[in-house]
Amino acid sequence: MFCRKCGLELFDNAKSCFECGEKTGIEGRMKTVFCRKCGVELFDNAKSCPECGEQTDIESNAQTSKEKEAQETRSTFKGVLMVVGLLIAIWLTYAGLTGFWRALG
Ligand SMILES: [Zn+2]
Ligand SMILES: [Zn+2]
Repeated sequence: MFCRKCGLELFDNAKSCFECGEKTGIEGRMKTVFCRKCGVELFDNAKSCPECGEQTDIESNAQTSKEKEAQETRSTFKGVLMVVGLLIAIWLTYAGLTGFWRALG
């Protein structure tokens, strides 16, 4: 992402521009995660609480995104099949037009 003020390229998770100090507004968007059990503040990507060891929801979220990925792979596969089918249709049309079948027969 880029600084709104000076246009400098920043890290995706930069809270403010290190050149001019302009806030990126990312802080408001990032949700703070708290432990369900003891209420200690956790890192966004923490899999478990460092205080009590309680598991966070991160892992199940990752599972969901994995399932999504699998679904996407399936739809990509479908897309490939469609393209192949289309190519075969084009080839058949082309072969018909150029008398390919007559040449064979
Ligand atoms: Zn800046
Ligand atoms: Zn905890």
